Amino acid sequence: MRFIRVLLLAIVIVGLSSWGFLVHRTSTQLAVYQLPETMQHFFYDGMDYLVRYSVRPDQRRNGDPSEGPKHFIDIERFGANAATAMPLDWNSAVARYGEDSLKRNGIVPYWVINQKEKLTEAFRSGNRDSILFYATDLAHYIGDANVPLHTTENHDGQLTGQKGMHSLWESAIPEIELASYSLYEAHEATYLKNPEEAIWKAVREANALLPQMFAMEKEVSKDFTDSTKYRYQMRNGRESRSYSSAFARAYAQKLAPGINQQLLKSGHLIADFWYTAWVDAGKPNLDGLLKAPATAQGRSAWAQELISYKTNQLLQNKMLRAREKQESGGGD
Ligand SMILES: [Zn+2]
Repeated sequence: MRFIRVLLLAIVIVGLSSWGFLVHRTSTQLAVYQLPETMQHFFYDGMDYLVRYSVRPDQRRNGDPSEGPKHFIDIERFGANAATAMPLDWNSAVARYGEDSLKRNGIVPYWVINQKEKLTEAFRSGNRDSILFYATDLAHYIGDANVPLHTTENHDGQLTGQKGMHSLWESAIPEIELASYSLYEAHEATYLKNPEEAIWKAVREANALLPQMFAMEKEVSKDFTDSTKYRYQMRNGRESRSYSSAFARAYAQKLAPGINQQLLKSGHLIADFWYTAWVDAGKPNLDGLLKAPATAQGRSAWAQELISYKTNQLLQNKMLRAREKQESGGGD
C-alpha cells in the first residue's frame, strides 16, 4: 500500500507541468480510434510511440528554456477580453503584442498551429519518423490547450490561496478517478476549415471553466480542516503541502464530469488536427509507410481494440497503454 502511495506521488510530481502523463497518454490513444480507415493502420502501427512520447514536450522543458511558453497562455495578461479579442494568427499577434510579451505570457494556441503545419509538411514528405514525431508533439500541445489552468496566470491557484490546484485537477484526480471515467464518446475525426479558430475555441472553453473550478474548491473546503484537506511531505529537504486524496475525491465529485469531459475533448481535437494535416497534405497513402505490411493478426487486434474503445472497456480489457505499459509515469 505504501509502495502504491509512493508510486502515485511520483506520478503526480512528474506530471506537475501539464495534463499529467496519464491523461496526455490516454487522450492521444483515444484519438487514434477516431481516424478514418485510411489513416488507422499507420497510426495504430505507431500507437506505442505516440502514446509513450506524448509527454516528451514536458520532459524537454528541463533542458530548453524556449519550451515552457509553448504549453500555456496566461490570457488575462493580454487584456480583459483577450480570450475573444486576441488575433488568431501568430503574425498578427506579434504585430500587436511583440514577440517578447507573447513568449513571456505563453503561446500554446499559436504553437499548436505551428506544429500542425510541421505535421502537414511531414505528411507531404512521406517520412514515417517525421510524421510520428510531429503527430506526437502536436497531441501534447492540444492537450495542454484544453487544461483550464494552462490558460490563466493563476495557474496553480497561487493568487487565490488555492495553491496546488494544478496537479490536483490534472494529475491527482484523474489518477484516482480514471476507472470511473468514460473513455468513449462518439466522434469521428473532422476536417477543420479554420484550425486557428478551433484551437482558440478550445482555449476559451477551458478558460471558461475556471470560475467554477476555483469557487468549488472553496465550497468543498468548508467540509475539511487544514489537516484533512492537505497532506504534508518532505520534498528535497523542505516540507511541501498538497491536497489530500480525500479532498481530491470530494472535489472531483462536485466537478463531475468536468475533467473527464476535457480529457475526451482533447482526444477529439487531436484526431481532428491529425486528420486536417493529412488532408491538407493531399491525403497521402500511408500504408506504404508501415514498418511491415498489415497482417491478419494485426487487423484482428485492431478490430478488438476498436470494439473495446467503443464499449468503453479499454481499461478493463487492459488495452489502455498509459496503464499497461508506462505504469511508472515518468521513466522515459
Ligand atoms: Zn505540457
